[in-house]
Amino acid sequence: MSEVVKRVQELLKLPQHLCNMCGKCCRIATFKGGLSYKDVLKLANSNTEEPSQIEGAKDFLSIFVPYSSVEEAKKVAPEFVAGVIDRFGEEANTGFFYCKYLNNNMCQIHEDRPLLCRMYPIPHERTLYNPECGFKEQGKKNWEEIENIIKELEAKQNSDNN
Ligand code: SF4
Ligand code: SF4
Repeated sequence: MSEVVKRVQELLKLPQHLCNMCGKCCRIATFKGGLSYKDVLKLANSNTEEPSQIEGAKDFLSIFVPYSSVEEAKKVAPEFVAGVIDRFGEEANTGFFYCKYLNNNMCQIHEDRPLLCRMYPIPHERTLYNPECGFKEQGKKNWEEIENIIKELEAKQNSDNN
């Protein structure tokens, strides 16, 4: 495995000790950077999308339940909701969800929690961190480094082609 691939893999895996166990990511979530509930359902029931996308949507809906309205979601995490609306706009009709397995700030299915919980958060430009999330700073830094690696690779490829 090349050093670059190894480095990107390291950067994608954030150190677990950064989690402060605030439980916010279980109380408020969006899917794939802001799909509406209807669109997540459509993806989960699709026959044409990539299997990994369909599985991701199914996993998400196996634990997350939509808030009845944006107003309800705002009561739980006003800054997060405002940040999402700011990014996608009201017209995006973003779905906000909560996990049915969080109880007293504890995950009731910790040992069996789905992959998406085990992987969260993955550094990416589309990742929406809760303001209190302990991964936020490191996640943004890692994504910046990944972007720089991508740019360097693209520049090298361009110069090799010329
Ligand atoms: S399954 Fe557990 S870790 Fe995953 S969102 Fe629900 S409460 Fe949080
Ligand atoms: S919001 Fe961040 S710090 Fe809080 S529980 Fe989720 S991953 Fe951990």
